[in-house]
Amino acid sequence: MIETAVVDPPRTQPRAHISSDGSPWGLKLVTALVVTVPFLGLLIAMVQFWNRAFGWLDLALLVGTYIPISLGVTVGYHRLLTHHSFETNPIVKGMLLIFGSMAIEGNCIGWAANHLLHHQLSDKEGDPHSPVEGLWHAHLGWLFIGRKADPNFYCPGLLKDPVVRFVDRTFVVWVVLGLLIPFLIGGWQGLIWGGLVRVFFVHHVTWSVNSVCHTWGSRPYATSDRSHNNWVVGLLGMGEGFHNNHHRWPRAAIHGMDRWQLDISAMVIQLLERFKLASAVYRIPLETRQRAARSPELTP
Ligand SMILES: [Zn+2]
Ligand SMILES: [Zn+2]
Repeated sequence: MIETAVVDPPRTQPRAHISSDGSPWGLKLVTALVVTVPFLGLLIAMVQFWNRAFGWLDLALLVGTYIPISLGVTVGYHRLLTHHSFETNPIVKGMLLIFGSMAIEGNCIGWAANHLLHHQLSDKEGDPHSPVEGLWHAHLGWLFIGRKADPNFYCPGLLKDPVVRFVDRTFVVWVVLGLLIPFLIGGWQGLIWGGLVRVFFVHHVTWSVNSVCHTWGSRPYATSDRSHNNWVVGLLGMGEGFHNNHHRWPRAAIHGMDRWQLDISAMVIQLLERFKLASAVYRIPLETRQRAARSPELTP
């Protein structure tokens, strides 16, 4: 078991630990490339679509990379690493974090620290990506601002975990591998669909949790932020769109708490649990949820 990271939003901390010097220009350039190149890839793919048939191999590469890499972010980066929603062995942990790295959303430790900062200051000053500062800012613009949470403050336990540190330090290797595999299988066209288009979709679905789910949807539970449950993002984002549930109980392993809220990430965690590959799965009792649903709405 790893030394416990900060698993629930540290709401009582007097101030956020943020570096706000701004990203260096090199990092801004890399961010711009990561954001725009997959979009260009999609445009190229669309041109190709007019000239050549979009085949089964392309579809298989897109779906076959989208699903495990999305789950790497949702199950690995988010629920396991950041919120400690369940425990698993080092091999499963390493694999989940490697898939998550392939999403090109940054090193796992930095991602976790930034996300814990989001939970600490949700929709308040210092939140890295709140639509209070504009929907575009929440979706994408925040990446260029360079507000970085300090992992030494937010998740010091992760810095001591050898598996986490290894995947964090070898981030670039997994990014390259995530692009190389579809290239080796499908050539340049494979790289477009299993690489660039996949990166494009994973990015925009993840960013939609920050923008769409803090703007539109339902709010069954009172929280001091603008989190909403949005079923479209829930479906595309492997269950991450049930974001009001998540902000109410950040450590819960299951975000889709009602029967009709399809949460593929939770299904994966429960499958791992069934095969004894996950333990200490953190669940919210039904009575707790019913009590919370009756409590008065808090203002953001
Ligand atoms: Zn949120
Ligand atoms: Zn979270």
